[in-house]
Amino acid sequence: MTVEATVAAFVRSVKPQAMCDDCIAKRLRLGSGSNRVMARNATAGLSQTKDFTRAKGVCSKCGKQKLVTHAN
Ligand SMILES: [Zn+2]
Repeated sequence: MTVEATVAAFVRSVKPQAMCDDCIAKRLRLGSGSNRVMARNATAGLSQTKDFTRAKGVCSKCGKQKLVTHAN
């Protein structure tokens, strides 16, 4: 599976909760560095589709106010 497909499946699985890129990367064990960037690229790509929304909000995992992604 591609990172984008993995991230999409994960975000769908926690619907309707929203999660930030850091928590998505951690949860999927994408680690840090380039993998974390891959998680961000994946959520940015998903937000271009009508199935996902990426906006400022509170992350359901870490509770921080930041850019979070959720499935519609
Ligand atoms: Zn978070």
